[in-house]
Amino acid sequence: MSPSQLKMAITGACLLVMLVGALLMVQFMNDGAGSAGMTLGAMLILIPASVMMTRLPRLWKYQSMNRDWYHTTYPDRVQGNQLACRACGSDHIHTRQLSPFTGYLGHICGRCDTTLFYS
Ligand SMILES: [Zn+2]
Repeated sequence: MSPSQLKMAITGACLLVMLVGALLMVQFMNDGAGSAGMTLGAMLILIPASVMMTRLPRLWKYQSMNRDWYHTTYPDRVQGNQLACRACGSDHIHTRQLSPFTGYLGHICGRCDTTLFYS
């Protein structure tokens, strides 16, 4: 799944759950019913909203802070295929899987632990 498809999928799924939550709340309001139903409806709206607010900016960051971005932003740290840390200048860069769900790798300095870019 490409990053933009993933963003669409997250947005779509969240909106769907929020819609269900809204319908539930309307339903419970009409019934004049208990706070448990209202709480459930509110949770169904708030949880996807918080997922969207935390996940989407992170995905956007992973997408925009790529190797090309690093090259453009820190041209003196990139020489051919050799990369150096922007903070300490070390060329000991290792990769770490950020989340199995998105498949993004963080490229992280082995000396000072600065995250340089994502791929
Ligand atoms: Zn470093």
